[in-house]
This record gives sequence, structure tokens and C-alpha cells, in this order.
Amino acid sequence: MATLQHVCSAPLVRAVRSRAALSLSSSAATSTSAPVKRAPAVDSRVLLGMSEQELQKLATDFGQQSYRGKQLHHLLYKTKAKEIQDFSHLPQTFRDGLRETGWSVGRSPVHRVVAAADGTMKILIMLEDSRLIETVGIPVDDEKGPYRLTACVSSQVGCPLRCSFCATGKGGYSRNLMPHEIVEQVLAIEELFNHRVTNVVFMGMGEPMLNLKSVLEAHRCLNKDIQIGQRMITISTVGVPNTIRTLASHKLQSTLAISLHAPNQKLRERIIPSAKAYPLDAIMKDCQEYFHETGRRVSFEYTLLAGVNDGVEHAGELAEMLHSYGRGYHVNLIPFNPIDGSEYRRPYKKAVLAFAAALESRKITVSVRQTRGLDASAACGQLRNEFQKKPLLEPSITGPQHSPV
Ligand code: SF4
Repeated sequence: MATLQHVCSAPLVRAVRSRAALSLSSSAATSTSAPVKRAPAVDSRVLLGMSEQELQKLATDFGQQSYRGKQLHHLLYKTKAKEIQDFSHLPQTFRDGLRETGWSVGRSPVHRVVAAADGTMKILIMLEDSRLIETVGIPVDDEKGPYRLTACVSSQVGCPLRCSFCATGKGGYSRNLMPHEIVEQVLAIEELFNHRVTNVVFMGMGEPMLNLKSVLEAHRCLNKDIQIGQRMITISTVGVPNTIRTLASHKLQSTLAISLHAPNQKLRERIIPSAKAYPLDAIMKDCQEYFHETGRRVSFEYTLLAGVNDGVEHAGELAEMLHSYGRGYHVNLIPFNPIDGSEYRRPYKKAVLAFAAALESRKITVSVRQTRGLDASAACGQLRNEFQKKPLLEPSITGPQHSPV
């Protein structure tokens, strides 16, 4: 769920971790004109995303003592080693054994980095099949507390939902991301900023609920292995039938953010075509269930589109709708971040403030999201579209290309 545009997913392993489950869509409606490589080999095996316990098991499967698995864990998540050859603490025989049996770390090269004046950085990561995904690092250093670094991660290559205001949706869909391809985005941000990521938002390319299995596995790794608190992780969705209750059943302490964008079903369907399959009433009831199961309030994202959904009458209708399902809701207003060729415009500040005031007067807590990186192709999908539609450079790039703007 690319809401950031609007500013800015059992033991798996048992010695074999297949990357073959890449769910390449047969109708892959990707916009890229670049030739993409075939999906990774069926027998490739990836270390990133494995738990300490799984890595210990892997080590003993290779005839090593289990503490070698702990060392592997440290190398992956603390040292952030990118290649097996960099595991200098491990015996050569173990490293050779891993390589010879097709194991890899699972880190991908950074294709491009674009920096905005406000410190926000957007990264294009080139996956093993040469597809590109976007990740955004958003640093916040203010009087409210210690320095925070948020990673806005993608969950799919592109997105099949095609929300009308979204650059990612316009760019088409290729496939779901594997868990390690989500985790590596966070590590890439940490490396780029030379700082640990404090918050993760699933608001990059893709709809996380369409790739819930990978999102949940990545969530486990981010929380347990990389040590990012569950409460510091937000999963954002426009709503996919039958998934919110599934997520609720995992009883995570993470925030669920619903991208609402409209106070009624009719307008919502105009903005989000996929909303036809999931009426507002059903979403709101599922949100009540999420709160019931997790004790965590659901927040609502509302992208303000000038002249479409940003009137005070819309605010009144939104407040009324939310109150009909309970109390204590929080609405996050996001002034639209213009994208190329969009039918929508960014609202004036006056309209944003009037909308916020109309909600507050009806006892709805509101925040207006500061638009970050407006000068860095901040709308989710914009940067990827720019590069993926052109022939890609050969992945022989030795390092990231920085393009300060
Ligand atoms: S098209 Fe996909 S990525 Fe874009 S806003 Fe909709 S769900 Fe999110």
C-alpha cells in the first residue's frame, strides 16, 4: 500500500530454503520495457530472513557446532555482511559448503539513490530477476524525542490494485516479494544512513495484504532478528477481503492503517476501484475485530485530493461514519503528492487545515502528515517507473549512484 506516496509481510528452513516460490504473475502487467531475467533458480537458498534457531540448525546440518549459527545470525543482522565470502569468522570449509550447495546471503545491489533536501532518501534496489523496487528512508530529528529513522518498505514489485491516484498502481504489477526481499530493504536503509531503523511502515510499492505470508515472515525477522519493536511497525492496506481478520489472528502489536481516502462507498470506489469488492461497512467491522483481537487501535489514512474528497462536508461525513463504528479513531491526513499525468491536484493548505479542524470539532483526532521528499520523486512508484520503463543498466554497477536533487 503506497500510502507514503501520499507523503512518501514454522520453521522455514530445514536446511533448504527455496526462492522458487516467486509468484510471477502469468499476466505480469509490468510496465517495464526492459528485458527481465528469469526468476531465480529453483534450488537457490537464502540466509537472510532466517531466525537464530534456524541458522543453528543449518550450522549443525553442515557438521558445525551450533554456536556457528549464532555467529551467522550476527553476521547477517548486525555486521550486515552481504556475501558468504565476507563471513571471515566462519571456517573456510563451512563457507565453501554453503556456497557449493547454493546458499547466498540474499542481499541485492542498490541501483540508484535519490536524496531530497530534507534528508529523505529513496533507494531503488535491483532484485535477482532485475526487477526494481523502491524503499524510502525518512529521518526525523525534532524536539519530540531521539532521532528516528523510518523505512518505508515495498511488499510487491508494482501493485495490481491500480488506485487512481497512485504512481505504483499506474506502473503495473510483476510479483510478490519474498520475505528476505522485504527485510533487505531495511538493511539497505540502515547502511545508507549509517543508523539503525527505528520504524518500519509497509507503505511502499504494493498491497501488503496481497502478500501477507511474506509480510508476516518479514515482520517476524524485523522484530526478532533486527530488533525493531512491533509497535514501531505499521502495516497499511486499502483493504483486501478476508485478510484483516487473518492478520488480527496473529495478535501482533503493530499498527494497522487503513487507507480510506473517502467517507462513503461511492466516492471510495471512484478513487480505489478495488473497493467494489470490499464495502466500507465490511472493512469497518473487520477493523473492530482487529482492535478486539489485538487491543490496538486502527488508524485511517486519508489522502486529500483537491476538489474530490477534501471538502468540509466530506470531513463531516467521515466523522459521522467513524463514530458509527466506535470511538477513539485517528485519522492521518495526507495532502496529495502530485505525480506525472495524474488527474488529481494537491489541495491548498487552507483546505487541509479546514478539513482537519472539521474532524477535530467532531472529536476525531487528526494529524496532517508532513510531505517528505517532495523533490525526490517521493510519490511511491514514481522513481521506479522512471527507471523500469527505460532499459536497465547492466547489473554490473559497482556501487550506488547518488543523484542529489
Ligand atoms: S495501487 Fe497499490 S500501491 Fe498504490 S495505493 Fe493502491 S494498493 Fe497502494
